[in-house]
Amino acid sequence: MTQVQIVEVAARDGLQNDPADLRTDQKIEIVARAYDAGVKRAEVASFVHPRLVPKMADGEAVARGLADRAGVSNIGLVLNVRGYERARVTPGIHEVNLVVASTDTFAQRNQNMTSDQTVDVVDEVAPLAATAGLKVSVTMSTAFGCPFEGEVPTERNVAMARRVAAIEGVSEIALADTIGVAVPEDVRRRVAAVRQVIGDIALRAHFHNTRNTGYANALAAVEVGVTVLDASLGGIGGCPFAPKATGNIATEDLVYLLHRSGYETGLDLDSLISASDWLGDQIGRPTPSLLSKAGVFPQSASVA
Ligand code: ZN
Repeated sequence: MTQVQIVEVAARDGLQNDPADLRTDQKIEIVARAYDAGVKRAEVASFVHPRLVPKMADGEAVARGLADRAGVSNIGLVLNVRGYERARVTPGIHEVNLVVASTDTFAQRNQNMTSDQTVDVVDEVAPLAATAGLKVSVTMSTAFGCPFEGEVPTERNVAMARRVAAIEGVSEIALADTIGVAVPEDVRRRVAAVRQVIGDIALRAHFHNTRNTGYANALAAVEVGVTVLDASLGGIGGCPFAPKATGNIATEDLVYLLHRSGYETGLDLDSLISASDWLGDQIGRPTPSLLSKAGVFPQSASVA
């Protein structure tokens, strides 16, 4: 059976735009619960300026709290050289995820750079990070559409992916639907086009369920050979710089869909559901995921 790896992003992409303000120990527990459920990679911190995203100011402390976990990869989000320097010296960070923006306006709002300058950052940081022993992945944000400029041509994805793939140290590229506008046909088309120019670099996909197409998109992605997907426990999430962006696809709903479709994830669904319920208690309201309300099918022994 085909193995699909889930990268858990609730502690970063999920919490960043959530109205709740969780403590460091709660953030650590989100990731710990995901790891207990079988997750192997998780976004745990964002090394952005604390003034811009105050909620992520405790990135170092969250990573340190997870430093003793064996066999997992804690990912730190990095938008510039300064952020990389913070990630590099933080115990518990195994991997950096750099972000390139598909349009100039989004790049300006999110990173105060042009789109090309976001790739220049990768040029500068990726070789350094790889030399320092950190895995480097690069997320192409707004790859399916921009909240400010609208449609993003597939040719733009291809041009960016070609440039990023040529940079030393980059081992994975992600196509991210930051504002949740994609439909499965977009996914099939863009995955096929990008794959032609990235050689043997792994391709990951990142979907938000803003227009209820996130799960269809995720399935479309794995059906065309993408084997790494981002998801957030409970489906929490958004982006402070992307108006009206809503949650990531929920880890437990995605895992249910994948398992019933014949894919393996290595994740335990009952553990994910209880982690999602716990997360709902922490943020003070039920999470958007549906599986945590409806339950698994067929019912597991413990529920029956
Ligand atoms: Zn996102």
